[in-house]
Amino acid sequence: MSGIVVVGAGQAGSTLVETLRKEGYGGSITLIGAEPHLPYQRPPLSKKYLLGEMELERLYLRPQKYYDEHNIAVRLGTAVHHIDRGAKRVFLDDGARVPYAKLVLATGSVPRRLPAKIGGDLDGVFTVRTLADVDAMAPAFAEGKRLLIIGGGYIGLEAAAVAAMRGANVTLIEMAERILQRVAAPETADFFRDLHRSHGVDIREGVGLERLEGEDGRVARAVLSDGNVLDIDAAIVGIGIAPDTALAEAAGLEIENGIKVNEHGQTSDPDIYAAGDCTSFPHAGGRVRLESVPNAIDQAEAVAKALTGSTEGYTARPWFWSDQYDVTLQIAGLNTGYDQVVTRPGAREGGLSIWYFHGGRLVAVDAMNDARAYMMAKRWIEAGQSPDPAAIADPETNLKKLETH
Ligand code: FAD
Repeated sequence: MSGIVVVGAGQAGSTLVETLRKEGYGGSITLIGAEPHLPYQRPPLSKKYLLGEMELERLYLRPQKYYDEHNIAVRLGTAVHHIDRGAKRVFLDDGARVPYAKLVLATGSVPRRLPAKIGGDLDGVFTVRTLADVDAMAPAFAEGKRLLIIGGGYIGLEAAAVAAMRGANVTLIEMAERILQRVAAPETADFFRDLHRSHGVDIREGVGLERLEGEDGRVARAVLSDGNVLDIDAAIVGIGIAPDTALAEAAGLEIENGIKVNEHGQTSDPDIYAAGDCTSFPHAGGRVRLESVPNAIDQAEAVAKALTGSTEGYTARPWFWSDQYDVTLQIAGLNTGYDQVVTRPGAREGGLSIWYFHGGRLVAVDAMNDARAYMMAKRWIEAGQSPDPAAIADPETNLKKLETH
């Protein structure tokens, strides 16, 4: 009997199958994953796990026992390479064919890689996406190793923090004029630049990579766009990710900055749904694609509910976090299109929050070691309320007593 088949055993895929059972779905469920591991959390990969402060077992979202007890068939270490929409079945790399009544794509993202012609295929060059990636790079995060981090987004900065904490000599290059250019205001970038420099990381902005050079197939040098040459032991590539739409595209599904889904997670084929990083979905009158755990969880839950009869639909309430050294950054909302930024010192020493407004309306906050600012802002953003920017800027203002409109 064909039931629900989920392609991608990551955060969204695992949440989806769990929610199906919680919602009382009694049909067959098959979860198929290309990686050889049970579904696991990715955020610790560039934080506590890489630092050596978290055991492998704690990465797993659920033990095998959970899937057995809930009658969820998990097929790992094998990818789906083709969808036959007419016959409603998927083809696996191990030769199996699995029929479906409904199919869910939860294929995540793929990291952008450096082209081989500039040394991207040398040994000692790593991307940061999977457990296997991080296990392979871990030996380079050691005392005295010379590490080049390419890309000043959150992944690159987190890797730089771990490397510095482990005593490596770290250089981080960012091709744009500043770190976090795509995702945060200059004020947030300033905070993290200072933080990293205070831990000895050499941050170079407006500097790209010309090429990596190797010796005996292993990376040995980086030639930078400003002409500088660095001797290095390893390079970590954090230059962004793209939604993994390969399977959906080959099956002729509509793609628009990700697999295009409606508010129920349904693709252009009514029997195929999608959830997580790989999707773009309706949000605030447009479409958005989010690369975050909260989105993967909430959207997957909404899709599971849609598959079991709910008509509610998914409304994203974006939030995100990052850990670097002893700083926890919490982000609420989406800052797209902001036209005003207000900075506010936190109650805790060294705490700071950066508030983004659009046309006087609060749209997002970056809170560094300032959980109160984060919580208040999140509440206001989700309720569609806004405090007065001038009141936020005044450190004497008690946030809890602030009037909103
Ligand atoms: P994934 O978790 O990537 O899972 C997709 C799975 O599908 C993968 O295992 C893939 O192998 C599999 N797959 C793909 N194609 C096929 C196929 N054809 N057949 C079978 N299987 C297939 N988010 C936060 O909110 N906060 C953080 O601090 C944070 N830190 C991060 C740190 C790192 C190092 C990384 C890599 C990500 C981080 N993220 C963070 C992002 C977050 O992990 C992702 O947004 C989330 O994992 C997305 O879930 P997903 O299920 O959509 O995709």
